[in-house]
Amino acid sequence: MLTKRLSRRDLGLGVAALAVTACAKTGTDAQAQDAMEMKMSDNANGIDWANLSEREWKERLTPMEFNVLRKEGTERPGSSPLNDEKREGTFVCAGCALPLFKSEHKYESGTGWPSFFDVIEENIGTKTDRKLFMARTEYHCKRCGGHQGHVFKDGPRPTGLRYCNNGVALDFVES
Ligand SMILES: [Zn+2]
Repeated sequence: MLTKRLSRRDLGLGVAALAVTACAKTGTDAQAQDAMEMKMSDNANGIDWANLSEREWKERLTPMEFNVLRKEGTERPGSSPLNDEKREGTFVCAGCALPLFKSEHKYESGTGWPSFFDVIEENIGTKTDRKLFMARTEYHCKRCGGHQGHVFKDGPRPTGLRYCNNGVALDFVES
């Protein structure tokens, strides 16, 4: 059976042109749909997300996604369309589509990054990040290792936690 598969790179200059204007959306809804379908078909085929090479990731991700997910970069605050996402649904890893947050976990933190007070805990891993002056708790997708953000203890009740997430590291799936 032949499955037609397109990487984001194959989708044409539109994506590249949009990526240059860093604050723009990373693609059209149709392109995002194609990328999501590719991840789903990879999952169905049992892809080994933890062992993709850097080159394979570069083929799959936009430059912004690659910088955040694979290089622990941080997007510019206020740049993600997911800041304003208020529909019911699930926020999944932009690398491998593993569900990480539910819409009811989201709240407005005022930081300019999509923020959540709870997480689908079994799907993330954490580590201590000492890159800045203080030790911060980094968290990432448990399946592909993709960096998502940092978790702080100044969130709202009931958890008191603030998962400060890069929007580019997530895709939203409406339920
Ligand atoms: Zn992932």
